[in-house]
Amino acid sequence: MSPLNAQANFTKMRPRLIRRALQQLARGAGVRENFEGQLSRFFDMLEQALETGDTAWMDAIIFDWVSSKTQTDIAEGQKNATALLTILFTLANETAREELNAEEALDMITAVQPVFTYSLDKAARLEMEHRVAYFANEIASVQQKLEQLDRSKSNFISVAAHELKTPLTLIEGYTSMMRDSSSDPNSESDPLLNGVRTGIQRLRQIVDDMIDVSLIDNNMLSLNSQPLWLSHILDMLQKNLNDTIKERCLNLEIKKFPGSQDWLYADPERLYQAFQNLLTNGIKYTPDGGALVVDGRTLPGFVEVTFTDTGIGISPEDQERIFEKFGQLGRADLHSSSKVKFKGGGPGLGLSITRGIIEAHGGTIWVESEGYDEKQCPGSTFHILLPVRTESADPRLSKLFGDLTKPKEEKNVEKETRTNPPAP
Ligand code: ADP
Repeated sequence: MSPLNAQANFTKMRPRLIRRALQQLARGAGVRENFEGQLSRFFDMLEQALETGDTAWMDAIIFDWVSSKTQTDIAEGQKNATALLTILFTLANETAREELNAEEALDMITAVQPVFTYSLDKAARLEMEHRVAYFANEIASVQQKLEQLDRSKSNFISVAAHELKTPLTLIEGYTSMMRDSSSDPNSESDPLLNGVRTGIQRLRQIVDDMIDVSLIDNNMLSLNSQPLWLSHILDMLQKNLNDTIKERCLNLEIKKFPGSQDWLYADPERLYQAFQNLLTNGIKYTPDGGALVVDGRTLPGFVEVTFTDTGIGISPEDQERIFEKFGQLGRADLHSSSKVKFKGGGPGLGLSITRGIIEAHGGTIWVESEGYDEKQCPGSTFHILLPVRTESADPRLSKLFGDLTKPKEEKNVEKETRTNPPAP
């Protein structure tokens, strides 16, 4: 039978089909009226598709049906258009069986089935696209809120740090005046004044850390790069931490690893600060009698420095979080003011600053640990990957220090050649 016959048969059963659809799907006069209009439009398009053999006639109405979904429908994943199309197809089958003879019914169903399949496919794809767009929007708005929250946190740190700095400077000044004006020749060893001095130093460190965090957050950390050897910085640290290491009965070994005595451009003060944070953390989170080892190696274009301890370790789920500001894992109420006491946690800014400093150098930092266990002490290894910069971004420095890649002797020969030109 021809498509025209199928269309004629469909037209014949259409009023009954609409009645059944209204009965099953639309309750209430207002809804009914609106739904009847929608059904008529759908069946008009379907007849056009049957007549021309072009299923694209269905596009506009399917698009309208999918687009009319509310935000709640989308959020709840309701597939209104596809569900409606499935019901309409079932009703069309049932009505055809009741209204037409077997041959006409089969013929009509065979003709409308591709149109329904096309419509269902189109509706399913559009519904999925709407859902993806809805969730992308939701994620973007949540991200925006998180960024706003982070900005507020960063602003708070910056304001608090600057507000604390002024009174702190005043207290520092008055304490040193009290010490100077004291008639007691032993004022240097006055335990009260010393207590105040230690407190001020700790507070100054926290305020400085807060300022560093806000500089890093606002991409304002500027580096003062100079040629240096990593081993110099590490040796200095070893000397300065010696008393603490002894006090905590720890063993600190700083190896002379490949690359530690090669010149590279970096900010010595900032690198000292980053390495110091890692070593003081190693001291803080390793029980008395434990060991700390600093080692490293060269990789193409980079030097890797590792800080290993035999401490309490860090569980895998926390290994990323500790680098965020205020990423301390212990209970804040158990924090001690000591920088080196076992588990004497601080404000949780150290690693976030360390990461900021290393990233400002173009490097990366990460930690490896089997997990957290205060009894077994699996330990942790912090890895730092630093690019070996042999040229300064500042041409004046390059001129002053020359090419760091050239070995020392070669440079000296060059210098001599310049000062003593060969005899003709
Ligand atoms: P804090 O001031 O708390 O030491 P950090 O940013 O330096 O802040 O460190 C964040 C958290 O990471 C610490 O509170 C601690 O839980 C964990 N952590 C850092 N270094 C180590 C380490 N070597 N071993 C075990 N845990 C560590």
